[in-house]
Amino acid sequence: MAAKAAAKKASVKKGDAVGKKPVCPKCGPGVYMATHKDRVSCGKCGYTEFKKE
Ligand SMILES: [Zn+2]
Repeated sequence: MAAKAAAKKASVKKGDAVGKKPVCPKCGPGVYMATHKDRVSCGKCGYTEFKKE
């Protein structure tokens, strides 16, 4: 069941930033930002960047 769910998710998000995490420009390399639907935010310093699309 877990494999089936993973396959479905992979097909939906195929080529869409999979395995690519944004790095916080304020904290530097090693600190990754949490991705949301319309923005990314750093859980360490609170920096938020809105996606432009
Ligand atoms: Zn940060």
